[in-house]
Amino acid sequence: MTNRILVSGGAGFLGSHLCERLLNEDHEVICFDNFGSGQLDNISGYKDHPKFTINDRDIRLSGSLPPVDRIYHLASRASPADFTDFPVDIALTNTQGTRRLLDHARACDARMVFASTSEVYGNPKVHPQPETYTGNVDIRGIRGCYDESKRFGETLTVAYQRNYDMDVRTIRIFNTYGPRMRPNDGRVVPTFVTQALRGEDLTIYGDGEQTRSFCYVDDLIEGLVSVMRAEDPEYDVYNIGKENELTINELAEEVLQLTDTDSNIIYKPLPEDDPNQRRPDVTRAKAELNWNPRVPLHDGLKQTIDYYKISHQIGD
Ligand code: NAD
Ligand code: UDP
Repeated sequence: MTNRILVSGGAGFLGSHLCERLLNEDHEVICFDNFGSGQLDNISGYKDHPKFTINDRDIRLSGSLPPVDRIYHLASRASPADFTDFPVDIALTNTQGTRRLLDHARACDARMVFASTSEVYGNPKVHPQPETYTGNVDIRGIRGCYDESKRFGETLTVAYQRNYDMDVRTIRIFNTYGPRMRPNDGRVVPTFVTQALRGEDLTIYGDGEQTRSFCYVDDLIEGLVSVMRAEDPEYDVYNIGKENELTINELAEEVLQLTDTDSNIIYKPLPEDDPNQRRPDVTRAKAELNWNPRVPLHDGLKQTIDYYKISHQIGD
């Protein structure tokens, strides 16, 4: 069965991969994006597809939305580098914007998936993080505009479900990387890769012993689509991410090896609020959705490096 699907944030990194995947499955895709961190280049491969529409609009603002039967709500800046410059924009997109899409889902009787984040666990005291962990977020910290608004976005989805008997699901996305992240996005993978390709020194924040677990975009999109597709799933919230935890020092070494560069490593101060460790517990998604991430870091990084070389002519 094909669907009429609204994607918010569809010109962003994850949103553009999602739109492409849905079009390949013959769905009609109606994308809303304010191009704050989204890029036209991301959707250039299919912007003229007969089943694709792009609307340059902020999802917080009023204005009619088309009737649909599925909604993926991905709109929100996601780079910590943006948390300092756009805190109100981010906080309201995940709350006011989420409310607007929930109201629309209710009006259309549409199924909705809300893109939440591992940041709802804050600087976690439970490791790895299962969906049942309630987290350790500093609501007044520099990341609070993002972490806490995603938490409230989740609370809103649960409130709407209870009040109006709606079908709303949440995916908590852990660090994901791949082609179409802005070269100057600020997140660690595009930063290290573009620094290495330009022969600049890689900037490690803190002592580099903090950990993350990096999921390649194709695996993430498969998880996202699986969460939407599941019929009568046992749970309404799923962690999606890769379990291959590594230190930022190890990530830098891997990038240096793959890029054959003269770059060195330099250390800079650790930003406020930066979590010490992060690794998803994805037992639930594996058991319930039959989802399994497949792309090794080595292969995903190679694809990403090629993207910056070819699409952005960095390093040649
Ligand atoms: P991104 O910045 O590339 O994409 C976000 C998109 O949303 C952009 O195209 C931006 O222009 C658009 N947008 C932002 N605010 C908007 C608004 N008010 N109205 C309309 N459009 C708006 O980021 P991404 O990495 O693709 O993240 C997509 C979603 O996934 C976000 O909700 C983010 O919180 C979540 N997420 C991503 C990651 C990751 O590792 N990539 C991790 C956790 C959660
Ligand atoms: N980081 C770094 N150098 C950079 C960018 C990020 O060392 O140029 C670190 C950052 O401090 C964090 C980790 O890499 O500990 C992941 O950062 P990112 O912004 O990608 O995502 P986060 O998981 O912090 O949201």
